[in-house]
Amino acid sequence: MEEAELPDAYAGAGDERYRVGAWGGGYFKREEGGDLRVFPQGPDGHSARLDDIIDSLNEQGLSDPYLLRFPQILENRQARIREAFEAAIELYDYPQPYRGVYPVKVNHNHIVVSTLARAGRAAHFGLEVGSKAELCLALTIDLSAEALVVCNGFKDRDYLELAAHAASHGRRILVIAENPQEVDDIIGTIKEVGVLMMIGLRARLHSEGAGRWLESSGAKGKFGLSTMEIVEAMEQLDREGLVENLRALHFHIGSQVSDILNLKEAIKEASRLFCSMQQRASGLDILDIGGGLSVDYDGSRSATDWSMNYSLHEYARDVVYIVKSICDESGARSPTIVTESGRALTAHHAAIVVSTLRVVGEHEPGDYARHDTKAVQIADLKETLEGIKHENYREAYHDAEQLLNELILGFKMGYVSMEDRAVGECLHNDICASARRLMRNARKASGVVREDIKDLERKLAPKYVCNFSIFMSAPDSWAVQQLFPVCPLTGFDDARGQAATIGDITCDSDGKLEHFIGQGKSEPFLWLPELEPGQSCLIGMFLVGAYQDVLGDFHNLFGTAAEGVIEVTGEDEFRLIDTDEGSSVESSLAHFGFSPHQMVRAFDRKVDRSRSRESVQDYRGAFLRVLHGNTYLQKP
Ligand code: PLP
Repeated sequence: MEEAELPDAYAGAGDERYRVGAWGGGYFKREEGGDLRVFPQGPDGHSARLDDIIDSLNEQGLSDPYLLRFPQILENRQARIREAFEAAIELYDYPQPYRGVYPVKVNHNHIVVSTLARAGRAAHFGLEVGSKAELCLALTIDLSAEALVVCNGFKDRDYLELAAHAASHGRRILVIAENPQEVDDIIGTIKEVGVLMMIGLRARLHSEGAGRWLESSGAKGKFGLSTMEIVEAMEQLDREGLVENLRALHFHIGSQVSDILNLKEAIKEASRLFCSMQQRASGLDILDIGGGLSVDYDGSRSATDWSMNYSLHEYARDVVYIVKSICDESGARSPTIVTESGRALTAHHAAIVVSTLRVVGEHEPGDYARHDTKAVQIADLKETLEGIKHENYREAYHDAEQLLNELILGFKMGYVSMEDRAVGECLHNDICASARRLMRNARKASGVVREDIKDLERKLAPKYVCNFSIFMSAPDSWAVQQLFPVCPLTGFDDARGQAATIGDITCDSDGKLEHFIGQGKSEPFLWLPELEPGQSCLIGMFLVGAYQDVLGDFHNLFGTAAEGVIEVTGEDEFRLIDTDEGSSVESSLAHFGFSPHQMVRAFDRKVDRSRSRESVQDYRGAFLRVLHGNTYLQKP
């Protein structure tokens, strides 16, 4: 049997165990003692303890689950990306500027969009939209006159007409044709409204992305024009006298491209295409390379799905260098480089903090002495338990597995009693718990443990039930098995830790976290403090600022979490810029057509008036309290 290192959850303590330094991007760190601090302006800025922030939210009368937002992190991410491109532009003496645009679908929250727009104004930061609703949003945001509004997504006439009118009113609209039909529609709209919008074509590149969203790119991607469609679109624009309005080539090979080689291939292919197109469309001066810049969720700096094998500076240098060298070689004018990074801008700025409610599945030594048992396997299990020791714990574990299987089979066939089965299960659990203890000791001594025994830790890991809904607060962990870093907010005595998993409070068996970050691969449990009955601890889930806010759903009618928008103003000093108590039961119900007003009337009609006045009042009071209250569990 292969010998292997135990999962990370065992190794080290504090930061080494949770690897905050690796995934925190300089925004989160564990201080000595294990408490977590946030540095919203980056590692050199001021910091505050997350636990103190939670205390101040509690003092405002709010309660968990909490979504914490740090707009300063958004500003810092935006500055870091821009500075990386500016440094690359200077390094390679690139003749054109860099322009960032934010794809609002990644997080539509007003505080997110307005912070990025305000902080990016001087650098002409723009927005990317993919629907009519998003276009409306963008048109109300204060951008510089030079900032682009890139119009992507499927478009109908209303969408195009609004874009055209916005262009005529001075907005710098770049409307991207995603397919040949849209080329016709854009030409039709320009003629009808009489406004010359800037036009872009989205290319369906041969080069593919990497990682979880690989399939959104390549020849079978949902969006973009094939090379022949691009040739035909340019001919059509030429015939219509609009080829000079063709200003941009755009591509997007998928989100979270974890391998830089895929990005480099795509940029090379797009740059060649750009140069060929510019020969026939001399106004072409923008290369919009879409999103895809990754976030290192697991801190492994590798090409695995939830990481990236490159740095931000490497990305920017590769983009600028490849575009410049291909343009120079082809004698083309270098384009303004536009990126549509969403995940890399927003992921770090938000964290979820939840409290544990109870621990289920913790090992309790079995109380079986008083039972009179008959099955022969019980005697064997007792003997195994009595004889388990360092030299044989692996064998004892295997024996216990086999004896329990026999007992269950016997129970199913009708010759093992319920009591015998119950005692057998308790004995089996006790043997597993002893084997686990001996295994941990063995690991301390030798550093290795066998694979099959490792499975024990997973089987015995208790579940910490936490006050939140995965489907609302971290839907991608369920939908696409995304790994988000998770760790306790405060340090704890290591000797009082245990390997555990996490469950939410939805009535759905998928509402759980059973994969946690490890060294490049996920681990089946997290190290959490053992809790006394009635005791609770706070657990944070980090880097949830991209996509999670907008994808969350109301499973079981659990609504949005309470929210705190925080600015760190000095060392250990912060202010709450904004707070929100999260969805009430009535607002969650209203999403699904249940008007609170009508519900109260329906309740009043249905209540049995023949009961005593006091009982009706109590019933009505309880109904209204719940209706107006929070959807999550409230502490007594
Ligand atoms: N641009 C387009 C066209 C997209 O579809 C997306 C999302 O997939 C993005 C930009 C944002 O990508 P990311 O969040 O990986 O930066």
